[in-house]
Amino acid sequence: MAEIRQPMSVQPEGAQRFMGRDAQRMNILAGRIVAETVKTTLGPRGMDKMLVDSLGDVVITNDGATILSEMDIAHPAAKMIVEVAKTQDEEVGDGTTTAVVIAGELLKRAEDLLDQDVHATVIASGYKVAAEKAEEILLEIADKISIDDEEMLLEIAKTAMTGKGAEKAKDTLAPLALRAVKQVAIMENGKYTVETEDIKVEKKEGGCVEDSTLIQGLIIDKERVHDGMPRKVKDAKIALLDCALEVKETETDAEIRITSPDQLQAFLDQEEAMIKKMVDQIKDSGATVVFCQKGIDDLAQHYLAKVGIYATRRVKKSDMKKLAKATGARIVNKVADLESKDLGNAGSVEEKKIGGDEMTFVEECIDPKAVSLLLRGGTDHFLEEVDRALEDAIGVISTAIEDGTICAGGGAAEMELSKKLNEYAEKISGREQLAVKAFAQSMEIIPRTLAENAGMDPIDTLVALKASHEIHDHKRYGIDVFDGQTKDMMKAGVVEPLRIKEQAIMSASEAAIMILRIDDVIAASGISKNKGMGDDDMDMAGMGGMGGGMPPMM
Ligand code: ADP
Ligand code: MG
Repeated sequence: MAEIRQPMSVQPEGAQRFMGRDAQRMNILAGRIVAETVKTTLGPRGMDKMLVDSLGDVVITNDGATILSEMDIAHPAAKMIVEVAKTQDEEVGDGTTTAVVIAGELLKRAEDLLDQDVHATVIASGYKVAAEKAEEILLEIADKISIDDEEMLLEIAKTAMTGKGAEKAKDTLAPLALRAVKQVAIMENGKYTVETEDIKVEKKEGGCVEDSTLIQGLIIDKERVHDGMPRKVKDAKIALLDCALEVKETETDAEIRITSPDQLQAFLDQEEAMIKKMVDQIKDSGATVVFCQKGIDDLAQHYLAKVGIYATRRVKKSDMKKLAKATGARIVNKVADLESKDLGNAGSVEEKKIGGDEMTFVEECIDPKAVSLLLRGGTDHFLEEVDRALEDAIGVISTAIEDGTICAGGGAAEMELSKKLNEYAEKISGREQLAVKAFAQSMEIIPRTLAENAGMDPIDTLVALKASHEIHDHKRYGIDVFDGQTKDMMKAGVVEPLRIKEQAIMSASEAAIMILRIDDVIAASGISKNKGMGDDDMDMAGMGGMGGGMPPMM
């Protein structure tokens, strides 16, 4: 651009704009601040954060995704890093802090390179090359696992739960999570898939964690609609109805003229007959339990109770689908269509009172493909944290089963990756080599932070760890944060699904590259969500209001 003596702006007075190095510096800083925030929580000996909202509600957690989603963040570049955590959480269910910390370190090292006059474009392309190579290396250093390797799967679950508020409960929760995942895993074309939504976690205050159980079926948060119905049905035949058990309202504005009491009686009788017919049809199908997604009116309740059918109404659609998966029933949307082959089975359907609420337990299902986990615990805060730990455990077991690949934790995989990437960098010429090396060194941030958070000397530890990785067969060496030693983490039972590392590195490098490529931050007048951000699916809604109220840039 030609030099203009007078500063000229095409934007309204007061509109903010940051260009060139200013924009880069500012964005990098914002990203790094987010990473610094969660860094101290990494690993089993990481600290917790106390999040307090404007109403004074408090969440105490050590879970990166939770911290970042609850934190009020305004800066657009910082939001991109938060997005990294969100993606990680959705794709793998664990490794959120890892992903964010790596993104922060990539940005920090990029800043150093920028200071050495390496152009942002060169850094970005070097990072891209390195990220692709990292993917390859990770596959090389991965170990295999099968669904039958229960011992290792339990270690994976425990690794994910170590250091969480629910630490003490991991011996109870890990086997529960494993059984639940194995129960809902489906084999398709020689590969396992796990829909984690098919595991419904039901939290109920009271009792202790050890009282938590896996239900061979589902818990539905509904009571039976009528006291005259049986409280418990053995060998239940279950009908799932997606229609109201009520007299139909006339759809058009028809008017019914009733001129005598006889006519009124006839009309009411007819309504009653309709309801009775519906109930008879249900009864004739052989059903002994009804889950209805819509309403059941008083009359229908009365007749259902009379014929001894257990019924609940207004069951959530998602629960209806799970009931179908758990009992083998088919959801029917017209009573007249209900046949015995549509019914599902459960050894027992019973209304039970747990934590002061009446709920319906559908149990003893044969090979249910959706299950409930009943989680018990003293207080609400504790239950929430246990739930988050359990979600992590379910996530990592599912991922390990689906992919069949795992790697050593405690910084082992990152250290080996760093070493291999460094070797690879030697083959690259020019300034891009600097970027690949920076990427390689960025991987060391994980073992370094684990050591730091455990109160170990990060430099000594890293030197020791690097030395072991030079020894053949020591590629699984990482840091045991409990005894301060470097050792084979696979043997020490610190194991993670490979996808945690793959995804963390992929989304961290994508975000870092995206931030690096920005050299101009311009206040815009209301950007719609879909335009202006290229094909990257970033939520930049916060950028819209940058005109007057540019977020604090620190
Ligand atoms: P994230 O949100 O990234 O999952 P965590 O706080 O759960 O963050 O920490 C995960 C890291 O802690 C991983 O690198 C994992 O290998 C490591 N880790 C877990 N258990 C141990 C252990 N016993 N010793 C050393 N490192 C461990
Ligand atoms: Mg974790």
